[in-house]
Amino acid sequence: MRAYVPGEQPQGGGWVKLNTNENPYPPSSRALEAIRLALANEGAGLRLYPSPDSAPLREAAGRFHSFDPARIVAGNGSDDILNLLIRAYAGPGRPIGMMDPSYSLYPVLAAAQAAEVIRVPVADDLSVDPAAVAGCGASVFFLTNPNAPLGVAFSPRVVREIARQFSGLLVVDEAYASFASDDCVALARELSNVVVTRTMSKAHALAGLRVGYALCPGPVADLLHRVRDSYNVDRLAQVAAAAALDDREWLTVTIDQVRATRDRLVAALRKMGWQVNPASGNFVLAAPVSSTHAASVETSADCFEFLRARKILVRRFPGHRLTEKSLRISVGTEQETDAFLAAVAAWMEG
Ligand SMILES: *Cc1c(COP(=O)(O)O)cnc(C)c1O
Repeated sequence: MRAYVPGEQPQGGGWVKLNTNENPYPPSSRALEAIRLALANEGAGLRLYPSPDSAPLREAAGRFHSFDPARIVAGNGSDDILNLLIRAYAGPGRPIGMMDPSYSLYPVLAAAQAAEVIRVPVADDLSVDPAAVAGCGASVFFLTNPNAPLGVAFSPRVVREIARQFSGLLVVDEAYASFASDDCVALARELSNVVVTRTMSKAHALAGLRVGYALCPGPVADLLHRVRDSYNVDRLAQVAAAAALDDREWLTVTIDQVRATRDRLVAALRKMGWQVNPASGNFVLAAPVSSTHAASVETSADCFEFLRARKILVRRFPGHRLTEKSLRISVGTEQETDAFLAAVAAWMEG
C-alpha cells in the first residue's frame, strides 16, 4: 500500500497558497458562534459524546438540499464517507471504478480493502463515454463531478445516462459542485443506485473542521451506518457545520466572489496564451507557455519552481497526459490572484 500524498501545507507565513483548493474566505460567522456556544460553561459539553449519527447536522443538510435526513450519512470529512462506501461496496472480486484522471485518494482507500481499481479514461476532448463507465465492471464507481484536477463538469444528463446503464452503485463526488452551475442531488433523490457526496471543506470554508456527508438511497444509508465509527463527527464539527449550512447568505456571497475571480483568472491566462481547461470548480487547470517555452512537462515544472521561489504555491500533476503539462491553481482572493498573475507575467518575460 502507498499513502495518499496531500498537497503541501507549508509552515510559516508569507505564502500565497493556491495548491489545495481551500476557500480563501472565512467560514460563516454563525459557525464560529455555534462553536463558542458549544464551549459554554467552561466546555462542560465536551465531557459528553456527540450525537452518534450527527442528527442535527443531518437535519441541516436535509434543509439545505431538500433531502430526507434519514437518507443522509455524515462523516469526518467526505474522505471518511468515501472510505465507508469502499468498505461497504468494494473488496476482493468487487472492484472500484474511477475516471482517469480524478481524485487519487480512491485507489488508496481501495487498496486497504484489497479491491481492484478500474480506470475509465477521460477523452482528449474532456468528455466521458457513459457506456464505457457503465460497462466497466466495477461494483462501485466514483465520478468526480466537477472533475478534479481537470476542472471540467459533466452534465446531469450524462450522469443520469451512466446511472441508467450501470448495474453497480454510482457515487458522484460533488466536492466542487457548489462552484458549478449544476449538481446531481436530484438523481440521488430519485434513483436507487446514485449517491452524492458533499464536503464542508471547499465552498463552506471549513476544511480544518473535517465534515462531509452523503445523500443516499435508503438502503445505502443503512449500510454506511453499519460500517462507520459510532461517533464519527465530533461535537464542535457537528454544530459548526450545521450552522454553516443554515447560513445560505454567506455561502452565496463567497461563492459568487470565487466564481468571479475564477472567471477573471481564466480570461487573463487565456489572454497570455496559456491553454486553459473549462473551470467549474474553485480551481483552474492551465498549461503555461511563453515566447520561449512551448507547453510541456518541463515548462510546467519550470513555471512551478519560478512561482515557488516567490512563495506562490500551486500544484502539479505529472504522470497523466491530460495534466502533466499544466499547473492547477486554486482560486484565491483578488489580491492573491493578482500576485499570481504578476509572477506569471515575470516568468513569461524570462
Ligand atoms: C477536497 C476533496 C474531497 C475531500 O473532502 P474532505 O471533506 O475535506 O475530506 C473529496 N473529493 C474531492 C474530489 C476533493 O477534491
